[in-house]
Amino acid sequence: MRVMRARAAAESAESAESAGATIRTTSADLAPPPPAPGAERHVALDFANSELALRAGRLDLLATPDAAARWLVERELAPDDAVLYEYCAGRLRELRAQLRTLLAARIDGTLPPPEAVRAVNTALTTAPAASLLHWDEAHGPHRAPAHPADRVAEHAMAAIAADAAELLTGPDGERLAACSASPCNRFLVRTHAARHWCSVRCGDRVRAARAYARRAQRAQVAGSDGATGSGR
Ligand SMILES: [Zn+2]
Repeated sequence: MRVMRARAAAESAESAESAGATIRTTSADLAPPPPAPGAERHVALDFANSELALRAGRLDLLATPDAAARWLVERELAPDDAVLYEYCAGRLRELRAQLRTLLAARIDGTLPPPEAVRAVNTALTTAPAASLLHWDEAHGPHRAPAHPADRVAEHAMAAIAADAAELLTGPDGERLAACSASPCNRFLVRTHAARHWCSVRCGDRVRAARAYARRAQRAQVAGSDGATGSGR
């Protein structure tokens, strides 16, 4: 289900892109790649990757309140009729920035700034991720989200933060990597030790760049041989 939703998300991102919402290009080649390895298990990784550096420019899947609401609905983090305001979308983007800092620190083996850790803990504790017990005359005992409808963003951030804490401390945290295909800025969970790119497209770009570098080096060597041979 999550995979299907993620694919739908990638497609909707593609259509947002081709509509020229954030970057002006209609080339399918420049659309966002499919979700990075690990994003299907970790919504926090998917969330961190919602800000993309493509060759055509930057694409932010949370750029507007409507886009952010769609992103959450597609991942079942918000009810279908969820409405977000710019203030909420801004807080989501702020949490994403802190989360990206934490993922980078985990990969580099460095200590993150305390405010990045604090941002996850604030999101974890501001709204409960679980449905609470309610009991009233009309409905008897029942469970319902503890948050009113206007706290959609808080509830989603709590769920994302819970997953982020699990990702950073669990076995997948050891295999976190940043895509090595410039200018890509996505994170991934490595499926094997040698893999350091997030998609087939990025892998192809890395291989093409390596081949180009080898050709350029050979040409340079041949060129300098020629210069020596000319007896200058
Ligand atoms: Zn990549």
